Amino acid sequence: MFDSDDLVAILDRLSTPVAVYAGDALTIRFANAPMLALWGRTGGVIGSPLKGVLPDGDADLIISQLAGCSGSERYTGESSHWFYRDGELKWLSCSHEYHALDQGPERKILHIIHSTFDGHQWRQPEEEDTPLDSGGSGFRNPGREASQDLISRFIAQAPAGICILGGPDMVFELANPFYQQLLPGRQLLGRPLALAVPEIKEGPLFDILQDVYQTGKPFQGREVVLPLRNAAGQTEDRYFTFTYQPRRAVDNTIDGIFVFVIDVTDAVLSRIRVQEQEMRLREMVMASHYGMMILQGRDMVIQVANQQIANLWRKRLDEIVGKKLIEVLPEIEDQPFPELLARVYESGVSYGQQEEVLHLQSPGGDLKRHISFYYDPLLDSSGKVNSILVSCEDVTEKVESRGLLEAGHLQQQALNRELASVNRRLEVVNQEMLSTNIELIQTQKRLQDSISVYEKSEHLMQSIVSNAPFPIGVYQGREMLIVMVNKALTDVWGKGENVVGKRYAEVLPELKNQHVFEQLDAVYTSGTPLHIRNQRIELMVEGRMKAFYFNYSFTPLFDKDGEIYGVMNTAADVTDLYMAKQNLERSEQNLHNIILQAPVAMSILSGPEHIISVANNAMIELWGKPAETVMNKPVFEAIPEARDQGLEVHMENVYRRGQTFQASEMPVSLIRNGKQEVVYQDFVYQPHRNAEGAIVGVIAITIDVTGHVLARKKIEQSESELRLTQKRLEEELQAGRELQRQRDVFFGIASHELKTPLTSLTAIIQVAQAKLRNSADPFLAGAMNTANVQLKRMSSMVNSFLNISQLEGGTILLRKEPLQIGELVAQVIDEIRFAAGTHEIRYLPEGDVIVFADRDKLSSVVTNLIHNAIKYSPRADVVEVQCLVSGGDAVVRVRDFGFGIDPDDVPRIFDRYYRVRGDNTQHISGFGIGLYLCAEIIGHHGGRIGVESEPGKGSEFYFSLPVAS
Ligand code: ADP
Repeated sequence: MFDSDDLVAILDRLSTPVAVYAGDALTIRFANAPMLALWGRTGGVIGSPLKGVLPDGDADLIISQLAGCSGSERYTGESSHWFYRDGELKWLSCSHEYHALDQGPERKILHIIHSTFDGHQWRQPEEEDTPLDSGGSGFRNPGREASQDLISRFIAQAPAGICILGGPDMVFELANPFYQQLLPGRQLLGRPLALAVPEIKEGPLFDILQDVYQTGKPFQGREVVLPLRNAAGQTEDRYFTFTYQPRRAVDNTIDGIFVFVIDVTDAVLSRIRVQEQEMRLREMVMASHYGMMILQGRDMVIQVANQQIANLWRKRLDEIVGKKLIEVLPEIEDQPFPELLARVYESGVSYGQQEEVLHLQSPGGDLKRHISFYYDPLLDSSGKVNSILVSCEDVTEKVESRGLLEAGHLQQQALNRELASVNRRLEVVNQEMLSTNIELIQTQKRLQDSISVYEKSEHLMQSIVSNAPFPIGVYQGREMLIVMVNKALTDVWGKGENVVGKRYAEVLPELKNQHVFEQLDAVYTSGTPLHIRNQRIELMVEGRMKAFYFNYSFTPLFDKDGEIYGVMNTAADVTDLYMAKQNLERSEQNLHNIILQAPVAMSILSGPEHIISVANNAMIELWGKPAETVMNKPVFEAIPEARDQGLEVHMENVYRRGQTFQASEMPVSLIRNGKQEVVYQDFVYQPHRNAEGAIVGVIAITIDVTGHVLARKKIEQSESELRLTQKRLEEELQAGRELQRQRDVFFGIASHELKTPLTSLTAIIQVAQAKLRNSADPFLAGAMNTANVQLKRMSSMVNSFLNISQLEGGTILLRKEPLQIGELVAQVIDEIRFAAGTHEIRYLPEGDVIVFADRDKLSSVVTNLIHNAIKYSPRADVVEVQCLVSGGDAVVRVRDFGFGIDPDDVPRIFDRYYRVRGDNTQHISGFGIGLYLCAEIIGHHGGRIGVESEPGKGSEFYFSLPVAS
């Protein structure tokens, strides 16, 4: 009748998708246009194996179905796939029919897809629409949003990443926009997890997923770190809180995993940042040259303190840290400090004071110190003072020596240096804070952008099959002879159309023991009609028993005398409806499970009163009330304090108008575990719809972002605090600089003015000395000698000041000449020996060389070092001076057996005006400029200067100059 070209043309015109595959590889031999459209491919795929054409997962499914049918001629199957429909990729459920055209190695398979429907929605008749109750008007068949739509809508809108991994290979069946954003630029759908997210195989998560799939036990992870490759290909540590939850099919087997995940990286990172910031504050305290400490709480517990504080108090650090201030220094109780600290704590206003007297009790007796101090309040994230940063400076020396040439002010100089270095560190810290803050603002914005993505409507309704035929049959007499029956009914029975005249029981013998015969008989004998709903009936179809669900009625028929003569039978096949209901229940169950297991707080608030019908632990915890006091109560009755914060209106809008409501970082005040607290929340309220699409409640999803918000506020807070402290330090630095300038000017003028009278005085004394050398009065001769020595000291001091101001003004002049350094040292020692009676100066020359240097200046360096050696070793009686040649340099070493120098002070003793402040040196006078000048002079000669010292043992100062060539 037809040749094969005709057949192909006929198949091509069918609107049903049809394909033919050949051989074990299932090479596509033919696919008509509807099939190609479903695959989203063109005719070019003809000749290719099915496996390369469909995604692996889908092809495998079809292959496995075919394997099941090998040997039989016809086989049917159900499955769900990603298929193209109207040009879009959709999750579709399909009924497949396969026919083996011929068996053997070159077997051919005809594949027909009977019906496809969108997996998210399907049609279903309503019960009251069945022909029985509506008097046979047929199905109304309006489109319905069914349960599956509920889950997909929920998934699409949830403010968290959700995906479904299907089958043991964990293929991405579905991933919502939020989930996709966690893995930007990756192809997920249709691909197994191990391929789409290979990083997951490196950690434990992959095994956990397998375990969930095997055992069905849900798994919850908190702040789990997962290194992920970002779109730019770099690996980044991301932190996730998530649940894995088994998805169960109707038969309760596990066929997939729901993954529910939120990205908590920002929150975790900002917490880490706050910790780092606290560390930095601590480091700042420890590194400060000031005394600094942090007093925590109203009890003023010393949380951190540096060595300078311990020194001031004459205590060890480990004796004070962690203790209450008043326990460490009980003697300050009657002094003003506790009162001042308490005031700063209460008011949050900084307080500072210069030169206050501090009385201390030390083992050596009562001690009076002068201190300048500053109290800065430190605020916690809620803006309350929780500790005080104390900076304090021991200014006793300064105060005590102010009378002498205002020498005390010089200390300001040192302080300024410290301030400047603290300031530099602060600037660095501040810079870091600023960039942290910018990052924070950026991540915040990203978060907000992502929340606004998921308003997407999925109202795709599909029209229902129209005018389904109405099954009807009439049976006569008690033996139920079939007298009338329509095609719809015979189709249901599946016994052919040739049944009129036969007995009911003869046509449907399989109904024996299913109560139907008894029911018919009862109706016939009693005259009472019978209506049965959702009855499971098994019918023999194509030689096999198959289960159906029916609504059916048996109505007695009366003749004109009122006698019963037969029974009318109407029926509706409600199998689909029944299965759909089963599915709906499963799906509701799945939704409830998702909610209960979700790592974010979720609840369903039902009805106009918003009764809490489902709420997971996270939600109960957020509310801060025992579950039994809130469950099944109207939400605003269960949590009365949530009223009047604007939530009612949003909730009404969702419930009445179906508008989804979203908010981020919304502060909500709650009474949790008896305490009033503000919780910052990201919200989504979305309508909860029943199978008919009517809104029956509100699904509330809440992410508690309090930690994150507070951490950010804290960072902002401490940034502004640091700015304030920095500003104050800058002002102090400025004032100090001005002081220093005035000092320099004063020294410049004073030493200039002193120079002239000093010169004439020297001349007069020398003349007087010559005249009195042979005087009879031995006192006069000695007095002139002493006067000469004192004058020398005075002019070297005045020279020092002059040198300083020349150095400052950049006008220092070196008159360099070649000179024997060993000889110069010997000369200096001779002069000093003459004046210093207390110490023996031992000279150990080991060679002499010529250097190119300014004689006066170099002498003053050697003089200075020897004088210091004598001055800082009052209990010793020897100073050793060495002169040697080493590696092309002339080296001079001056060694004493005195106090030595603390390693902390060594780097700074060559600084201008720097003096070591300690018990040993506090009564030794000086200006702190000698070593500064030495270092400058040696530096100007291209040499090096340094010191090796051990506290308590002594010091050895040395300098080296290049040997003149
Ligand atoms: P001054 O002696 O006038 O204080 P210097 O600049 O000469 O100033 O010295 C700076 C500081 O270095 C001194 O205050 C002292 O603490 C310390 N110092 C100098 N030489 C010695 C030494 N030989 N032994 C111990 N400390 C010393």
